[in-house]
Amino acid sequence: MTDSLNKIPVEVALYESSEKIYPRETKGRFQRWRMLCVYMLLGLYYALPWVQWGDRQAILFDLPARKFHIFFLTFWPQDFIFLTLLLIMAGLLLFFATALAGRVWCGYACPQTVWTEAFIWMERWVEGTRAQQMKLTAAPWSFTKVRKRVTKQFLWLTFSLFTGLTFVGYFQPISQLFVDFFSWELTGWGLFWVLFYGFATYGNAGFMREQVCKYMCPYARFQSAMFDADTLIVAYDADRGEPRARGSRRKDESSENKGDCIECGICVQVCPTGIDIRDGLQYECIACAACIDGCDEVMDKVGLPRGLIKYSTDALDKGSEKTLLQTLIRPRVIIYSILLSVIAIGFVTALSMRGNFLVDVLRDRNAFYRYSEQGEIQNTYQIRIMNKSQTTQLYMLDMRGLEGATAVWTKSSEPGVSREVGAGEIGEFSITVSLPETADYKRSQTIELLFSETVGDNVDTIVEPARFWGPRDVSR
Ligand code: SF4
Ligand code: SF4
Repeated sequence: MTDSLNKIPVEVALYESSEKIYPRETKGRFQRWRMLCVYMLLGLYYALPWVQWGDRQAILFDLPARKFHIFFLTFWPQDFIFLTLLLIMAGLLLFFATALAGRVWCGYACPQTVWTEAFIWMERWVEGTRAQQMKLTAAPWSFTKVRKRVTKQFLWLTFSLFTGLTFVGYFQPISQLFVDFFSWELTGWGLFWVLFYGFATYGNAGFMREQVCKYMCPYARFQSAMFDADTLIVAYDADRGEPRARGSRRKDESSENKGDCIECGICVQVCPTGIDIRDGLQYECIACAACIDGCDEVMDKVGLPRGLIKYSTDALDKGSEKTLLQTLIRPRVIIYSILLSVIAIGFVTALSMRGNFLVDVLRDRNAFYRYSEQGEIQNTYQIRIMNKSQTTQLYMLDMRGLEGATAVWTKSSEPGVSREVGAGEIGEFSITVSLPETADYKRSQTIELLFSETVGDNVDTIVEPARFWGPRDVSR
């Protein structure tokens, strides 16, 4: 590019390097809500994998065994529909929350926000307030600066590693994982994922912070499509605040031309994404409400009413007659809540109707049939029983559809014997169906194998069809 007047080449950088943001600490009602969310969510995240349910981890996504344990429920690959429904519900819940209260998810519950808060606490604890941090950054390297920086990095790295370990602990038994890790015996994929998630935590919450929300998060980009004039947003009351006045202009009692904004800049200093909410709604705003708390504190000090920055809606800001409650209850919100309720009811109903066990039947492919020593025609089947319940169960076998035939577990002599499968386990067995050669039968016909378990007074039975083969030339 050239300077148009002097024709001198001018260098223009296409990449603007970001400046580090030092958010100022706030105190106020929304800050307390945010802290509560951070404590709760971090507490849940770190504590849940340590909770036991019977003799196993309460929440364990056991990928090698292809089983997801969530307290009293065990999901198998066959239960994929439940995972689909859960994901649909999570998406609808996000739409619902956005339609109702804008980016409330971003400000209070998004992992990026929650972990960034934790990293900011550690930073403040080691390096002090916003002003002290900025002073430290500007200061030349000294023993104190090195000590503080090393301490901060040590805390961040330890916390990140702990986060990575905990994350992997959702996928393999966490107590053994910790033992292996601290005895230097964790190797291979386990170690890789611990380091990977630890590094991701450090990179996102310690290093990139608001850059993730600004440039990487897709939700920040498309959430505006879910906004309408009645969506709750964090907004500056320009009618009340403008024209801004500070210093002598504010002290001048005769001056009528002064709004309530004293231009102290606190709302910008507390903002974790470094924006000025007075410029209007911006996609960088994560609706954390830190600027509301900051400004309310200022208003208290100067004796003006709170709420110069507040939760509001575009419509309310433009003088709509509606009350806040009326802006919340509107068709979009009602449709989302109905959809959410219908899917939630469907999910619970399907879950309660889900059988306690599943059976797969596979014919023995080695031979269509064979003769026993007693001259009976026999077919063999491979059976897999998945016990989805949380207790060991006994399974009985029976059959119907072929007069005179009997079905027994292979290697057991008589009918009426049961087979045991442990809680959440898969039992693999084989069964033999025998038919006296003198009985009436066709070369190939469908039979039904019945598997049943007794829970309390209930007997649950699964009927699986199978084919029974006999010799070709003896149809009678
Ligand atoms: S904190 Fe309030 S008074 Fe201070 S600059 Fe921001 S809007 Fe104005
Ligand atoms: S503008 Fe206010 S609500 Fe938005 S991110 Fe900044 S501090 Fe949070």
